Amino acid sequence: MKTCLNCQKEYPNKREASKFCSDKCRVAYNRKHPKKAPVSELQMQVLYNAVLELVGKSGRIEEKPAIASKTTYQPIITQQLPQVAIQAITHKYLEDKQEVTNADEHKSWLKRLNDDTRLSDEQKDVILKSRL
Ligand SMILES: [Zn+2]
Repeated sequence: MKTCLNCQKEYPNKREASKFCSDKCRVAYNRKHPKKAPVSELQMQVLYNAVLELVGKSGRIEEKPAIASKTTYQPIITQQLPQVAIQAITHKYLEDKQEVTNADEHKSWLKRLNDDTRLSDEQKDVILKSRL
């Protein structure tokens, strides 16, 4: 005889590994004791995106000094992104790069990277020279 983990009643031991008297008890027990699932890749991506969004909101935008030409005005994000955000952006670019199949797609990928105000020129250079 074994004791059911859920209802504590004794039951005939059918299998060595069994812990519950019935499927009902197994389901009930597992519901009360949920296992922590490992974080999936998708959940990780969602997390990254949330971090990026938060960081984007907290980045202060300053105007350039008045001497700067009006036509070249661009907002400057003065706050450096945390390393994890940079890595996420870098990874995304490298992933996208893998999906590039022709010159046009490569051009638009390159333009997107060059126009990305979240990254410094050095960081863009790293992305250009890296592979996944
Ligand atoms: Zn039971």
